[in-house]
Amino acid sequence: MNESTTKQTVTQAGQVKFQGPVDVTCMVRSSYPDYAQRREKSVIYVSSPSPDEVFGLPQPKPSCKGDEPDNDALWRKYNKAELSIQRGLLQLKRRELLKAFGFENENLDVTFKWSRTAGCSCGCSPGWFAYLGQERLKRKNGTGWNVKVWITAKTEAMKAAEMARREAVARAEAEKFVGAGI
Ligand SMILES: [Zn+2]
Repeated sequence: MNESTTKQTVTQAGQVKFQGPVDVTCMVRSSYPDYAQRREKSVIYVSSPSPDEVFGLPQPKPSCKGDEPDNDALWRKYNKAELSIQRGLLQLKRRELLKAFGFENENLDVTFKWSRTAGCSCGCSPGWFAYLGQERLKRKNGTGWNVKVWITAKTEAMKAAEMARREAVARAEAEKFVGAGI
């Protein structure tokens, strides 16, 4: 088991320039390969600010693919923007990602590929696979363990909204006590 969390404030990640400071954390977990499948399922999940927050590109309205070609085009643009944000964060954390796989200070030509079904075949957990050339990146020491990495990036606005949510819950909780006459 190997776990590390680092915090980093950035305004620019890869080609992506954020509007203000963004806290980026990186959490790593290793686990024995899935018993049923006996194979590595190393995957990287990225939780990032939305294209609206980074580029001012609003999320298109929901519609069924094929019904409204213009809206489909907006969605393609939006999804592409989201992946470019995530790709920037992967580049930012490149060194830590390599370290998670056991490579220290090595200048490897790692590329990242997004997969809608990276974490689950139903599509509920999209994520990224790391590749060395054509091969999926594996742990250097050859143990075959899974490496799972969660990269989380939060803007000041996201942190403020989270704080406000927490305060609202605390207030509601306090009012419950007042209402009960405690
Ligand atoms: Zn699923």
